Amino acid sequence: MKIAVIGLGFVGLSLASVLGSKNFNIIGIDTDLKKIEKIKKGIPPFIEPKLETTLKIGLKKKLKISSKFKDVESCDLIFVAVGTPQLSDGSIDLKNIKLVAKTLGKQYQNSTKKVIIIIKSTVIPGTTLEIIKILEKTSKRKHGKDFDVITNPEFLRESKAVEDTISPHLIVIGGETSNSLKKLLNFYRNMHPNIPIIKTNYQTAEMIKYANNAFLATKISFINQIASICEKIPGSNVEDIAKAIGLDPRIGELFLKAGPGYGGSCLPKDVKALINFSKNSGVEPILLKAVDTTNRLQIKKIERILEKILKNIQNKHIAILGVAFKANTDDIRDSISINLIKLLLKKGSKITIHDPMAIENTRKIFKNKIAYGNSIKNTLKNTNCVIIMTDSNIYQNILKNDFLTMKNKFVIDTRRILNHKNLDIEYHAIGLGKKRKF
Ligand code: NAD
Repeated sequence: MKIAVIGLGFVGLSLASVLGSKNFNIIGIDTDLKKIEKIKKGIPPFIEPKLETTLKIGLKKKLKISSKFKDVESCDLIFVAVGTPQLSDGSIDLKNIKLVAKTLGKQYQNSTKKVIIIIKSTVIPGTTLEIIKILEKTSKRKHGKDFDVITNPEFLRESKAVEDTISPHLIVIGGETSNSLKKLLNFYRNMHPNIPIIKTNYQTAEMIKYANNAFLATKISFINQIASICEKIPGSNVEDIAKAIGLDPRIGELFLKAGPGYGGSCLPKDVKALINFSKNSGVEPILLKAVDTTNRLQIKKIERILEKILKNIQNKHIAILGVAFKANTDDIRDSISINLIKLLLKKGSKITIHDPMAIENTRKIFKNKIAYGNSIKNTLKNTNCVIIMTDSNIYQNILKNDFLTMKNKFVIDTRRILNHKNLDIEYHAIGLGKKRKF
């Protein structure tokens, strides 16, 4: 069996590398030539633990990388994992995936091969049916008879992408009963014998992914709301509350970390796309809108704490630790830190950031508008305040000495990772009842 993966981002490159490392005959396709050159050399174009090793093993076996769609012609399974970003009104931008459908359709015009196209990208309900129409129109072939399309949303987590690809918690397959569906089911049953598989129709499979991400976002906004209430209760601590309610099996402990709000390439865009879709379907998304609003208000909260501490933030020198949307990644897409930097620059603050993994991506946005620290000590030097944005180990291990060269030892800890440490600082945190001085 020959397999293609189209779109070599976090999802596609992890899948192609894992399948390659398992000795599948596989070709990875992307239209970004710079990415292709790097990947061919065994270098992932983004930071993702275990990916480089897995990719290199794959390349030594039967994984090939190309920018040419004609190379997928002989494939039996084609996974499509191109980006589905958001448009300015919050709706989903389907241009990449539609372009892939058109390109594949034209390519299969003169082919007699029955190919199975598997949509891994996150797409709003109804999209797979649209893709089928595009494929039928451009290929002049019939869905079900000449080719099949299956929806197969992805649930991996960045920074655990390889691990999750090797061992997902769930596989969702949406499509009409056919030999192709059986073939994909067998493929997954062989790869992941003990993983639950939900088999359903296209639109339900598409909706499962949105329901999943919307629920995760809801958990985060919920605990952030509780954190805001805790801040008004002297001495209370959202951390203990999250731990306690997380032990209730009906709630679960994950995604209950209060913080600066959710960011990244999935939750913000998927919640917004679902809000948009819901409105267009005639359902007022009251809860989802509240989740999104609560998230957007978190940054205002950081701004308010800053203004309370520094009075006027214009010309104040502020250090930001952690710019990626979470620890252990270089991904700054929809990162709250990036929005915070933009907001503070508008207010006239001077910014120095620290995030060894994400520094280069951050530089591409802000160039010389901000300064870039190469150590925590040097980032904090002469600053009036530091804001901790991610719970990276390097920030958890900060020492008293690191703060010595600050002009004012004001610390805003959005993750509470320095709570209970004796650091001789003026400490402010999200989700703690009152300001503490150690
Ligand atoms: P990404 O932006 O990292 O990668 C997408 C890749 O597709 C890029 O390399 C881009 O060059 C390529 N591409 C775009 N148009 C193309 C085309 N016409 N032909 C070939 N290649 C093309 O995206 P990602 O984070 O891997 O996400 C991919 C999809 O999976 C999205 O729909 C996303 O919502 C979903 N998803 C992402 C994650 C995640 O954690 N990143 C998790 C689950 C699902």
